[in-house]
Amino acid sequence: MLDKRTTAKLEEKLKQELATLEIELADIGKENYMNPSDWHGTNGDLETGTADATILADRFEAKTTNEGIVTELEERFNHIKEALGRIKKGTYGVCEKCGAMIPIARLEANPAASTCINCAE
Ligand SMILES: [Zn+2]
Repeated sequence: MLDKRTTAKLEEKLKQELATLEIELADIGKENYMNPSDWHGTNGDLETGTADATILADRFEAKTTNEGIVTELEERFNHIKEALGRIKKGTYGVCEKCGAMIPIARLEANPAASTCINCAE
């Protein structure tokens, strides 16, 4: 098993990334589709309260683009949540496929990794 200090360090990394993803998802995520006046596009230069046809068209385009990003962010978000769950269960750092230890260098590069290098797709 990983030692406590390494696990704590990686857990901290995961939590930080989770918090960042939460902010990003809240910013461009689905909830805000319901409230267009509070909706921020990824290009960051949409002004609220000055809606004209061009801006609405831009918003529509940006929304379509965002859906791919949101899916990606959600996937990452779920991977991190799973990794944090494994820390709680004490199975963190163990390859889900073959049961080998995942090298620390790999976990440091990607703390949400659930497989060893051999089993990675
Ligand atoms: Zn493996």
